[in-house]
Amino acid sequence: MKKKKIKKNLIILGILILILLGVVISLILIHQPKEEPVSLTEEQKLIEQGIQIVNKENFTSEANTLLEKGYSADEINQIYEYMSDKNIAKILTNNKVDLSKFYQISNFDFDKIDRYLAYQTSQGIEMKQAVTEVNLNLDTDFYTNIETIEDPSSITVLVNKFHALPADYVPEDLVSIPSFPNLQIKDDAVDDFENLLAAAKLDNVIIIPYSTYRSYDYQEGLYNKYLQTDSQEEVDTYSARPGHSEHQTGLALDVRSSSHWSNLTDSDYEWMLNNSYKYGFIIRYPKGNSRITGYQEEPWHLRYIGIEHATKVHELGITFDEYYDIYLTEH
Ligand SMILES: [Zn+2]
Repeated sequence: MKKKKIKKNLIILGILILILLGVVISLILIHQPKEEPVSLTEEQKLIEQGIQIVNKENFTSEANTLLEKGYSADEINQIYEYMSDKNIAKILTNNKVDLSKFYQISNFDFDKIDRYLAYQTSQGIEMKQAVTEVNLNLDTDFYTNIETIEDPSSITVLVNKFHALPADYVPEDLVSIPSFPNLQIKDDAVDDFENLLAAAKLDNVIIIPYSTYRSYDYQEGLYNKYLQTDSQEEVDTYSARPGHSEHQTGLALDVRSSSHWSNLTDSDYEWMLNNSYKYGFIIRYPKGNSRITGYQEEPWHLRYIGIEHATKVHELGITFDEYYDIYLTEH
């Protein structure tokens, strides 16, 4: 009888232990964070609709916002694959628009869609090119919407008919060119310019700089002098208005051949086209680009931007204005 009782007690104890274990396990399960399974279902819902999950804070809610605006899963995938965070923020706060022409254009700016479309239609050019040109304000008249340059001492500064240097800007590091002591350029460019002169000489190309740094006041005098003989429309094709000349940066040089008064011979220009980038210089106003640069061809005008950038501009075969917008501007 005693043995039976002990057995019974053991069974009861076993049951109690099992109940206790059950309670403990349930408590552990109850205390598991609830958020995880819920957010997983949100993501799963998106995945089921064909949306690729992006590792970005608030992606789930952003994707849902875009779905509500009427963007398809495919469009949402493209937006997150190609668009900058800046553009995504604008897309999230505006009505749905057709972005299909813009996904793969790295310098696209959501705020300018209407201008891109209008300009592409009026010019009959590819959208990629239209985006760059509109970013450069080329759908507006030269010398309108002028912005004052904030970093005039940068070697990659863009000075053109829409970007003006402050009138009182003088580079702090102007130095004389050792082999032409009467002419000054920015210190950053001087060694590379001497190297260019030496390399040219080895190829029997004699390069003579004749106009380098020019102050705002000097440029003003020059521009006004031209106005005495030519109309403003004409002058604007070959001379910069004060504040709009690269010469004020100390990074531009006009160079000539010994046989010419203010230009290069064809063969010296050929040498320059093929070699100047190796020393950080580009032909700033190349042939056939006046629509973009606003100037007629100027074979004599060199601009220093450093070897790395000059090499890229040379390889791409584009103007510095375009390069600046595509590669040096955050969009
Ligand atoms: Zn020049």
